[in-house]
This record gives sequence, C-alpha cells and structure tokens, in this order.
Amino acid sequence: MTIQRVAIIGLGLLGGSIGLAVKEHLPEVATAGWDRDPATRVRAAERGLVGTVCETGTEAVAGSDLVVFCVPVGAIGAVAADLAAAIPADAVISDVGSSKLSVAKALAEALPGHCVIPAHPVAGTERSGPDAGFASLFHNRWCIITPPEGVDADKLAALSAFWEGLGAKVELMDPQHHDLVLAVTSHLPHLIAYTIVGTASDLEGVTQSEVIKYSAGGFRDFTRIAASDPTMWRDVFLTNKDAVLEMLQRFSEDLTALQRAIRWGDGDTLFELFTRTRDIRRSIIEQGQDDARPDFGRSDHAG
Ligand code: NAP
Repeated sequence: MTIQRVAIIGLGLLGGSIGLAVKEHLPEVATAGWDRDPATRVRAAERGLVGTVCETGTEAVAGSDLVVFCVPVGAIGAVAADLAAAIPADAVISDVGSSKLSVAKALAEALPGHCVIPAHPVAGTERSGPDAGFASLFHNRWCIITPPEGVDADKLAALSAFWEGLGAKVELMDPQHHDLVLAVTSHLPHLIAYTIVGTASDLEGVTQSEVIKYSAGGFRDFTRIAASDPTMWRDVFLTNKDAVLEMLQRFSEDLTALQRAIRWGDGDTLFELFTRTRDIRRSIIEQGQDDARPDFGRSDHAG
C-alpha cells in the first residue's frame, strides 16, 4: 500500500505540523484537513497547512487512504464516530494522541470495520492552535506506533514509512507499555510543573511580581511546561489515569526520601542523586533528543 491522500482531522499544533511536513517532505501526497472551529479553518488555509481545507470532516476524509485524528484524546472517539460512514473502508485510521490504550479502545469502538493503528509522535511544544505548527516538528523525534494484534502488515509498513518520511524515527510498542513510559517521561513532569507553578502563584508572603522577577532561578523552565494546552492535558490525565497514578506513587516515595535527607543533613544522598540526574541530562543531549542551549533551541522553531 502507498499513502496518496491523507485526511487530517484537527488543525492545531500536531495536525498543522503534519500537513506542513507532508508538503515539505512528501509533496506527492495530497492532504485534506478539517477543524471544528471556522476561525481555525480560515487560518489553516492562510498558512497552507493542508492542500485543501474542507468545510466538513466528511469532505476531508472522502477518498483518503490515511486518516489522522489530531484532536484531544478525550474527543477522538466521538469525532471518529461522527465520520465513520464517510471514511473509505480500506483507509488506515491513526491518530497522534498522547495516551494510547484508551485511544485504541475508542477508535476500535467507533470504527469497528476499519484498520486502526494508533500512533504517538513524541514531539511537541507548549503552543497550540493553527499558528503553532511547523514542518520540522518531527525531525529526529520518535513516533511510537502501537499496532493491535493481527494488524495488516502492509498497512503498518505504509504508516511507518509515512512517519519516517516526515523525518521521525519509528518504534513499535505495546499500548500499555507506551502509557507507562510516557507517564514517567512526559505526563508526570507536566503534572509536577502544573503543581509548582500553581503553588508559587498561591504563596502568601511572596508576591506575584517577585515570582515573575526572579523566575530565572528554575521556575521559568517549569512555567514553559505549565503553559501547555489545558484541554489536551486534562484529557491525558483522565485517559492515562492508572499509569500516572502508579508513577505518582513512586514519585511521592522518592520525594519523601529526599525530604528525609534534607531534614537529617544527609548531603551524600542529595549529591549522589544530583550527580546521577546530571548524567541523564547529558545522555539526552548526546542522543539528539534536546539541545544544550539555555532556550533548548526553541527560538529556531518559531512560526
Ligand atoms: P491543538 O493545537 O489544541 O489542536 C487540537 C485541535 O483539535 C484544535 O483545533 C481544537 O479545536 C480541536 N478540537 C478540540 N476538541 C475537539 C472536539 N471535541 N472535536 C473536534 N475538534 C476538537 O492541540 P495539539 O497539541 O495539536 O494536540 C492534538 C493531539 O496531539 C492531542 O491528542 C495530543 O494529545 C497530541 N499530542 C500533542 C503534543 C503536544 O506537545 N502538544 C505532542 C504529541 C501529541 P478548538 O480550538 O476549537 O478546541
């Protein structure tokens, strides 16, 4: 199978980036897109996020051989069900959702006769909406594909080739394992950032202006993560509940151990942990998964 026409449902950061990346890297592939918000559709057309911005989802999916749902994970099932009758029977159905078990279930229920192959490009920024996308978002980033048992090998190969064509590196994973790995590498860090920024803004005796003025002391990096889209992250925590709660339990225990080390002046424990964590940061940079520059090279991604 070769993918010739892609329907992108949801034209925000992820949907827009896929459209722009296809235009740049796979110009022979046609793209059609739809978003529920008319203002987003207008902006998507102005930016040329997809070849054809459609007025309805039904028009966008007609004749497509790959449909990618790029809406918040809590909405994917309902949006897919609405379009079920219009999606060609042999199309590959995929998504970009940040949690995978619940999305696999929702898509399989909404489109029982279709070939559903969920995916999650582990690439993003804290920005959202039709102005946020850019063609290089997936360059050298992992795209985790979570195929169901007995998946059509030809269709899986076509989806993998599509993501590789956009510059991503593909990894196949069981959805449950995906949810556990992402709970620790992405979901828990976001929860911590949301908590810290919330705590700082609630503090009595420290003014808001002081928090902002002295934010370079570490707080600023948390505010970037805590500025991420509220709808998207609400849905991630509600749909990946079990894995997040498990990781949160582990985190609370480790935090208690650090609390004890500080209370008892156990500098060795603190020093040993901080040395280990510094090595992890170095490995991430060495593997090309982040930038050593203080702004993480994000100024390059503007627009
Ligand atoms: P986004 O920029 O906010 O785009 C999402 C789009 O979906 C918006 O245009 C939004 O329209 C639309 N939408 C929201 N609720 C909808 C509903 N109920 N029905 C139909 N359309 C709806 O978000 P995004 O960052 O692209 O995220 C899209 C997906 O990518 C999510 O599943 C997320 O988990 C996944 N993802 C995100 C990142 C990241 O870093 N952001 C990374 C990897 C994967 P409105 O503006 O009208 O709400």
